[in-house]
Amino acid sequence: MSVPVSPVEICVFAGDGIGPEIMTPTLEVLELARANAAGPPLNITEHPAGAGHYAATGEALPEASVAAAKAADAVLLSAMGLPGIRKPDGTEITPQIELRFRLGLYAGVRPVKVFPGQKTLLADPRAESIDFVLIRESTEGLFAHMNEGVVSDRDATETLRITRATSEKVFDFALHLARTRAKQRGRPARVTCVDKANVFRAFWFFRQIFEERAAAFPDIATDAAYVDAMAMWMVQRPWEFDVMVTENMFGDILSDLGAALLGSLGLAPSADIGDAAAVFQPCHGSAPDIAGQGIANPLAMILSAGMMCDWLAERRQDPRLGRMAKAIETAVASVLAEGRVLTADLGGSASTGAVAAAVRDRLG
Ligand code: NAD
Repeated sequence: MSVPVSPVEICVFAGDGIGPEIMTPTLEVLELARANAAGPPLNITEHPAGAGHYAATGEALPEASVAAAKAADAVLLSAMGLPGIRKPDGTEITPQIELRFRLGLYAGVRPVKVFPGQKTLLADPRAESIDFVLIRESTEGLFAHMNEGVVSDRDATETLRITRATSEKVFDFALHLARTRAKQRGRPARVTCVDKANVFRAFWFFRQIFEERAAAFPDIATDAAYVDAMAMWMVQRPWEFDVMVTENMFGDILSDLGAALLGSLGLAPSADIGDAAAVFQPCHGSAPDIAGQGIANPLAMILSAGMMCDWLAERRQDPRLGRMAKAIETAVASVLAEGRVLTADLGGSASTGAVAAAVRDRLG
């Protein structure tokens, strides 16, 4: 098969807090994986955005940075925002969310997978088989009008918006993903729609669109659950789920619950995918409480870079990028299984740099 010879253009946002501390070693891991797989050249360019940039310039996400993200093959982002840096209305700057809107990244992909030998928070031995993906619709729901809340002395109103067009796209994305996972894992596919269709008409609308789209995928088992029950089942029997798909705010909350099942937010990668672009970033934020100490867990960021390679492999039809993705995931799995070099969030005492070095060692 002939593969593209042009370099892969990667737009990097190192962000705030622990962002630069986890981005630098991730780029080193990425380059080593590329060299080992004789992969395509990576043209990595860093662009400004975030709370620090806002404090310095009054701009959280410069237009030039949006243009760079649009022009790139993929975007790698660490984390943005600092609780102490706020807009005049009291909310934080959130360029990472704005980017999802600007690039039309409707499918927030949040894998929750326990690697062999990895410790989890759950005592049940079946926790070792946890392997599901939460798809968070990422451009509408309760975030659709996020800067337009109306607040008076007496009350406050926010608006939730669900459209047929975006719901169809995100459901199709989830159903296709389930089909791919079933092939890879040799087990039946299942997609669960998570909503609150018992109370809100908007969610009944959401549920009906899900059922319409599911009818076009007769090979995939589908069902639906209310979000409150799902929060409970994600703790009681998370190993039973395959792909879940939900509204933006519900997904925001449940994805942190998913990360907690893994033992730490520092292990949870993510991708925000649209028709023409994608951003890869850990689920966690800028962790200002540990920033500057060199103790942040870099694994969620490294796994996000692996997800980027996997997505690029498919998009560019380049198996070398697929090999890079596999090598990165296998190296991280090996570090976790061994359990010797871990950061404090996972009960260890290793530094960010030592964990990244352990991953490079397994890659080598
Ligand atoms: P957070 O995810 O930054 O931190 C929550 C807890 O998890 C903290 O105790 C932190 O130390 C820990 N943690 C997070 N990542 C870790 C890592 N890699 N290694 C070890 N421990 C880690 O959430 P928060 O404290 O609610 O938010 C901090 C800032 O980040 C806020 O300004 C928030 O708006 C922003 N934020 C950004 C994103 C993003 O960029 N995608 C996501 C969430 C929060």
